[in-house]
Amino acid sequence: MHCPCKLITYEGFLFGKMRVSGKAALAAKKCSPVLRGIGFLEDNKKLRRMQKGKKEKPINPAQSQSRQPGMEYKMNPLPEFMGQAAGSGRLKGKVAIVTGGDSGIGRAVTVAFAKEGADVVISYLDETKDAEKTRQIVVEMGQKCLIIPGDISIEEHCRQIVATTIDNFGRLDILVNNAAIQYPQENIEDISADQLQRTFATNFFSQVYLSRFASPHLKKGSSIINTSSVTAYRGSAGLMDYAATKGAIVSFTRSLSASLAKRGIRVNAVAPGPIWTPLIVASFEPEKVEKFGSDTPLGRPGQPNEVAPCYVFLASDEASYITGQVLHPNGGEIVNS
Ligand code: NAD
Ligand code: MG
Repeated sequence: MHCPCKLITYEGFLFGKMRVSGKAALAAKKCSPVLRGIGFLEDNKKLRRMQKGKKEKPINPAQSQSRQPGMEYKMNPLPEFMGQAAGSGRLKGKVAIVTGGDSGIGRAVTVAFAKEGADVVISYLDETKDAEKTRQIVVEMGQKCLIIPGDISIEEHCRQIVATTIDNFGRLDILVNNAAIQYPQENIEDISADQLQRTFATNFFSQVYLSRFASPHLKKGSSIINTSSVTAYRGSAGLMDYAATKGAIVSFTRSLSASLAKRGIRVNAVAPGPIWTPLIVASFEPEKVEKFGSDTPLGRPGQPNEVAPCYVFLASDEASYITGQVLHPNGGEIVNS
């Protein structure tokens, strides 16, 4: 069969001067593996654009921080963590642990939990200035707050977080596994064994350790909420190891929920899209930071206080028939879950 590939274009790719569509394009696509590949790439791009929505544009000032975890107090503008709604006692009398509760999504969750009447234990690595501020806000709301610095990639530290919580409050009702790091690399050759291990130990192993130490203290009605990410669902070329930890978290959430269901303990996850937090300014280049989140259907990054309500809902009795599920505060990107 005569191959028309050299003469025509397929889906806007120029091979000659002519542009064809319909039957001729289909014939060309059938006979040339190259065109089949190009067509596939184009279809993929279109699909991504349809899913992600807008073209990228600057939204926030370009900025970067030179170490992880980042510092919230150094960000410009500061992330919004205080929600609009008044609390209605949905978590009254409960005690929660929130890892990474000093800043970003964890801070907004901590404050929202306190507003609903919970006492909160915050675990964080070493950002004491951010942690102190969060603690102060919780105390001003009339709730108790304990801040615990230290590395949750170490099993013994996770044991201590739970033990200290029980020593101080005598109970544990909610565990939010939220802390994480990410080190972008465009090529798999650049992901060192050390980076891979550190990312998995911090983002994923810590969730298993903390869930294990928390489990004996949890009762019917208690809940575990794990922070995953939209990258678990669509992958991320520049965050291969990080996205893999977030995928592991989804599978772990589903498996643990099945295991703990018999005790009436619920386990769910939240998979945020691009949210304006220290993690972003501490891990991406300034040019990426300024456009971060602008390509979502809603055309902007989310704020931590737009994510926290998911955690309050999942932790409360309103979500009593929901377990093993994932909520997606991501600015409108459609994902299958
Ligand atoms: P963040 O920097 O405010 O929070 C991450 C926290 O992790 C830090 O506060 C830090 O104290 C803690 N942490 C890091 N390494 C630790 C260690 N070894 N030991 C103890 N604590 C450690 O940023 P964030 O964006 O609010 O991140 C919260 C969660 O949200 C993370 O799981 C992140 O993967 C997830 N997430 C964020 C986005 C986003 O766009 N910001 C998108 C999807 C998912
Ligand atoms: Mg922090």
